Amino acid sequence: MTRKQLCRWIDEHFVSNGGNVLTAGQAVRPELAGLRIYEKPLVGTGSAADPLFGELKREGVVGPWHMGPQEWLPGAQSVVSLFFPFTDEVKTSNAGRPDEPSAEWLHGRIEGQAFLSALLSELCQWLRAQGIKACAPSIDPRFASITGGKSRLGDPRISADTFGSNWSERHAAFICGLGTFGLSKGLITKKGIAGRFGSVIVDCTLEPDVRPYTDIYEYCTRCGACVSRCPVQAISLEEGKKHPPCSAYMAETGRRYAPRYGCGKCQTGVPCQSKIPGL
Ligand code: SF4
Ligand code: SF4
Repeated sequence: MTRKQLCRWIDEHFVSNGGNVLTAGQAVRPELAGLRIYEKPLVGTGSAADPLFGELKREGVVGPWHMGPQEWLPGAQSVVSLFFPFTDEVKTSNAGRPDEPSAEWLHGRIEGQAFLSALLSELCQWLRAQGIKACAPSIDPRFASITGGKSRLGDPRISADTFGSNWSERHAAFICGLGTFGLSKGLITKKGIAGRFGSVIVDCTLEPDVRPYTDIYEYCTRCGACVSRCPVQAISLEEGKKHPPCSAYMAETGRRYAPRYGCGKCQTGVPCQSKIPGL
């Protein structure tokens, strides 16, 4: 399989899957039916043998519980990372409200993630039909998130202040050349920070993208806009992002907007929302 074939499949199925458009049955308000959630995804590729994947196991980066490409898929050769930028409708609806997430943003987070997961599943099936082994960690039964130390991983090295998972989409995207981290801990791509990530590990060789950056925070200007956007002061120029207040606020939105949740104020109404700031 070539990169061109892969990108053509993604472009075609991004449209034909249909899940990128909100149905009347899903919409919390009738006028939201027909909302397009994402723009076409960016695609980045990396080598499964990239030594940076090993670095993610270090304490303070992700942690020793982070699984490398070979652990997800023995024989792994390449990693494909996808960034799905939210549409202007989703972003601008959330940019104008300082206090609560817009309905469009909540749909982006929940129905958007469901669409992304379905597309990853279809992509894995298509790859396997060609004899290529494939694993999308985020939809693999072994995937586990960690929230304030709570996780089904049962790893004694996980402490009460640990947040993350055993596969970091943002770090994989950084390695695959898609972007660099912001103060708010999102990943700033050439289409901005507001969107969601997914990835697939494969046992065929794809030419790795050359990372057009060297520093992990290269695209962040430290303008501080995300600091003042955060409703619970979880971000500061001095200390970056603190996960506990963000996580507690997310849980609160889960109670207020069940079955949806979300915030995204630090990703909208900021200079890095839709582009690399300063460019
Ligand atoms: S809003 Fe400014 S400080 Fe925050 S992540 Fe974006 S560029 Fe960096
Ligand atoms: S998602 Fe919301 S609560 Fe969390 S850091 Fe961003 S603005 Fe703050």
